[in-house]
Amino acid sequence: MRSKRSFDRAIVGRMNDRDLFALALGLTKPWFVSSVELDADQKKLELSIDFERGSVFPCPECGAAGCKAYDTEQRRWRHLNFFEYETHLSARMPRVRCGKCGMRPVAAPWARPGSGFTLLFEALILTLAAHMPVRAAARLLGEHDTRIWRVLHHYVDRAREGRDDREVRQVGIDETASRRRFKYVSLFVDLEQARVLYVAEGNKASTVKEFREDLEAHGGDAERVAEICCDMSPAFISGVEAAFPQAAITFDKFHVLQLLANAVDKTRKAERSEHPELKGWRYALLRNPETMSDRELDFAASLLRSSTAKTARAFHLRLAFRDFYEQPPKAAERYLTRWYNWAIRSRIPAMIEAARSIRRHWSGVLRWFVSRITNGLLEGLNSLVQAAKAKARGYRSFRNLATIIYLIAGKLDLQPTHLR
Ligand SMILES: [Zn+2]
Repeated sequence: MRSKRSFDRAIVGRMNDRDLFALALGLTKPWFVSSVELDADQKKLELSIDFERGSVFPCPECGAAGCKAYDTEQRRWRHLNFFEYETHLSARMPRVRCGKCGMRPVAAPWARPGSGFTLLFEALILTLAAHMPVRAAARLLGEHDTRIWRVLHHYVDRAREGRDDREVRQVGIDETASRRRFKYVSLFVDLEQARVLYVAEGNKASTVKEFREDLEAHGGDAERVAEICCDMSPAFISGVEAAFPQAAITFDKFHVLQLLANAVDKTRKAERSEHPELKGWRYALLRNPETMSDRELDFAASLLRSSTAKTARAFHLRLAFRDFYEQPPKAAERYLTRWYNWAIRSRIPAMIEAARSIRRHWSGVLRWFVSRITNGLLEGLNSLVQAAKAKARGYRSFRNLATIIYLIAGKLDLQPTHLR
């Protein structure tokens, strides 16, 4: 019995270089490699592909078998490099005459119609673009970035068309301020699947309606969306009430806590000149005890124990509010009421303002104990978005930015072979 190795060698021994490349490209009949030209100086490899004389093809339109080539058109594609050789395929592509459909161009099995890249090369583009700025990917591949963007738009658009939103029940909405041209970018996220559903330009009530339309265009059902998490922006609240009237709003925990932190900071600023002991402790006051350094803990303890500053009481109120989220659900509303009564009588203007805001958003603050949803996930995605924006000074349009966000965080099925 021959060993595997000598068997391979026996096959290779019968093959010429053209057969080897045909094998590497996965070509099947009637396609074959007709010539191989290697330019060692230019580091380029040109593979010419042809079809066997007298071949018949199925009609690309209706699938009818046995259509003869009528004429051909010369085409060329960039392919994955073979080692360091920049590789191109070229072929004369036939047009067939179908009895029913008339003249139709035959599609190359290795590329999608209209593309100057092979499917494998496009797969490489998608992978690179998900991990580095498009400009860097373009430089690495030696292609102009407009060609790269064209490929990304194609696959992302096609994959989004095929997305299924039927099961979407929990949505997180967040806005992120964008630099320069697009002022605000709002993200709509499927909180259960942890995927970006929709990227919108703007942060208005109508932006939420736009999302609803997109959801419904993908088989989603606005009535099925039972929980929505957002910040306290009046535009989002009225947008949700109009577009998703049956959904319960949960105000994002991190945004609510931020409200309290801002109130502490405002209070400190207002009295820092009369209370020099507050100097230099801005960040300690915004921190939680478990993340404080020993010095900061000592400061916080002495502040709470002996300071007459309003900032000391504001800080205490902030910590007490944090404990609200630790309450058992049954006790939550009672706890919040007590906290509110304390804050509203605190004679600290910034805290009174924060307490009033909590009062206005009462049921959405309490809703967390039922829904348990937050936009923590979105904050993580936003850092991806921020990174994408920072990296991508080359984004010439909102569409490019949205495409990258979908590519990175949309959990789309981007298999080039599925999406021709
Ligand atoms: Zn046909």
